[in-house]
Amino acid sequence: MQVDGACLCGAVSFRAEVEPGRVFVCHCTDCQTHSGTAFRTTALTDRDAFELLSGEIREYVKTAESGASRALGFCPACGTALYGGPGPGTRGPLSLRTGALRQRDALPPVAQVWCRSAQAWLERLDKLPRIERQPG
Ligand SMILES: [Zn+2]
Ligand SMILES: [Zn+2]
Repeated sequence: MQVDGACLCGAVSFRAEVEPGRVFVCHCTDCQTHSGTAFRTTALTDRDAFELLSGEIREYVKTAESGASRALGFCPACGTALYGGPGPGTRGPLSLRTGALRQRDALPPVAQVWCRSAQAWLERLDKLPRIERQPG
């Protein structure tokens, strides 16, 4: 499935090819911190299938619990998280952050990972009052 996306300020835009069956929620604490929220949703793509159309992406390289280096791509102007991928000297798919994809509604996750650090309140999220927009 062809997707395209952009960061919040619009400086970075890109397109990629993803498989709708390869979409995951990640509850790891690094995703919680880097996203600034409870979990992150990602769609896997091959680095060769990712094409930067405009702007520049900055990468922060972290060391995963496995010891592997991971490059976290983000817009240096607005901070939008764009992907996680293999760090220098390693290979593997890119995990596109689905919130930056125009087609995000068509990419529901199929599994959750790192559930050992999932926020406990997520289990009762559907019990909370729902308000359609910013409350007045
Ligand atoms: Zn931006
Ligand atoms: Zn994670």
